[in-house]
Amino acid sequence: MTRLFAMSCGQLNIPAAYLTPGFQPGQRFDTRVGMFLLEHPRGLLLFDTGAAPECVDDLAGWWGSSMAENFPYRVRSEDIIDAQLRALGYRPRDVRHVVLSHLHLDHAGGMKLFPQARFYAQAHELAHAIWPGPPFQNDYILADLLPTRSYDLKALEGDADLFGDGSVRVLATPGHTRGHCSLLLRLPQTGAVLLPGDACLCSQAFAWSSPPGAPLRCPELWQGSLARLRAEIEAGALPLWSHEPVGPAGTAPQCYE
Ligand SMILES: [Zn+2]
Repeated sequence: MTRLFAMSCGQLNIPAAYLTPGFQPGQRFDTRVGMFLLEHPRGLLLFDTGAAPECVDDLAGWWGSSMAENFPYRVRSEDIIDAQLRALGYRPRDVRHVVLSHLHLDHAGGMKLFPQARFYAQAHELAHAIWPGPPFQNDYILADLLPTRSYDLKALEGDADLFGDGSVRVLATPGHTRGHCSLLLRLPQTGAVLLPGDACLCSQAFAWSSPPGAPLRCPELWQGSLARLRAEIEAGALPLWSHEPVGPAGTAPQCYE
């Protein structure tokens, strides 16, 4: 049985100018913070880990005041990945594989909850997370990453077929960050499912070809990444966006089979 659960780690409030430049200037959107759990014959696989548990009680203290002001974030303890796994009947130590789209604060904050898992991230992203270059330093929280230095981490160089059977494919999609990647899954009934991560933030951004970020970290690489997403979606893959706008109540986990 292979099922995919799409979860959200609370609601991140993003300015329209960042989400889809030119769309409803001055407005802001509550968006999901995508985390995805795949029940796979080779073991539970998690794609992105949401924000750190510390954000629940002290967002400005953990993210810094400018990040907390620019991206107001509503997150409760039950939104954190360990609590969401428990709600699905799993413990964090049941997770065997964790793929990270990139190491930004709303994707890699839960890494430290999985000391027994094998992690996969792009080699470029690992260096980039430590030396992102100005003005991108606030996008990464060093305190999220330091506890994971002894973890089992496989540095990927571009695309990868994770289990060698085409069921879980990593697609290198740089642009939002230097070492960003997306995931392409094959489910028994749904068929191909694309998890873009932050290569493109939401369905509206995709429809308008809006870049994920202002300023965009690597604009010279992003057009090629968007073309990759477009090719998979046109070939029939179902995209599940990591920052799709949601209502104030947020969104319950959704299951795809
Ligand atoms: Zn990001």
